[in-house]
Amino acid sequence: MRTISLVIVTAAVAWSAWLATSAEDRGAKDQGAAKPQAAGESRGGKADASSAADRAAPTDDAAKEIVSGKVVRLAEALKARGIKSYAEEIKEQVVLVTEQGELVPIVPDWRGRAFYQDERLRDRPVDLVVNRRRGIPWVQVLSIYTFDDEGVRSITDYWCDICSIPMYEIKECECCQGPIRLRLRPQDLPKDIHRHGSSEPEPPETNANETRKAEK
Ligand SMILES: [Zn+2]
Repeated sequence: MRTISLVIVTAAVAWSAWLATSAEDRGAKDQGAAKPQAAGESRGGKADASSAADRAAPTDDAAKEIVSGKVVRLAEALKARGIKSYAEEIKEQVVLVTEQGELVPIVPDWRGRAFYQDERLRDRPVDLVVNRRRGIPWVQVLSIYTFDDEGVRSITDYWCDICSIPMYEIKECECCQGPIRLRLRPQDLPKDIHRHGSSEPEPPETNANETRKAEK
C-alpha cells in the first residue's frame, strides 16, 4: 500500500513537473514568436535614437586652451559695450573679457563656479586653462591663474590648512567643515597647451613670470 502511494505521488510529481516544463516551453515559444518583432522594433528605435544622439552630441571635441583677460559680471560687460539688458535674468552670469575684447561665458561647474561665488577672482587679470568646444561659446575652466601685485603668476584654488586638502569652490572644508582660504602658488602656465587663436604652445619667453615682472 505504501509502495503504491509512493508510486502515485512520484507519478504526480513527474506529471506536474512535465506540465510546468511544457508550459514554460509554450511561454518561451510565445515570447520567442513575439520577440523578433519587438527586437526589430527596439533595434530600429535604438538605431534612430543613437543616430539622433550622434547628431546632437558628437564625440567630445573639447580642446584645451589658454585664455586671458578679466572675469566680470555679464551685465557689466554688456553695459560697457552699450548693450542694454534686464539685470534680473543675467545677474549671476559671469564672462571672461579677453585681452582682445571677446566675451567668453564661463560654465558654472566644479571649477568655473568659483568665479560666480568669489568676487576676489573677478575684475583682475587671469590666465585660464579651459576646455573649449566648436560652436559652444561657453568654456569650462580647468585651472585658474591670477597675478599678485608684483605681477607673479600663481595657480589659484582654495585650501584647508587643518586638513591640507585643496578645493575648487567656496564652501566649508569637505573634511573638517572648517573655513578654507584662497590659495595662490607661484606657477607658470603649462607648456603644452596653446593659447586661444594660436596653434602653437606658448613660447616660454612670453608666458614666463619674468615677462610680467619686467613690464612692471
Ligand atoms: Zn579641513
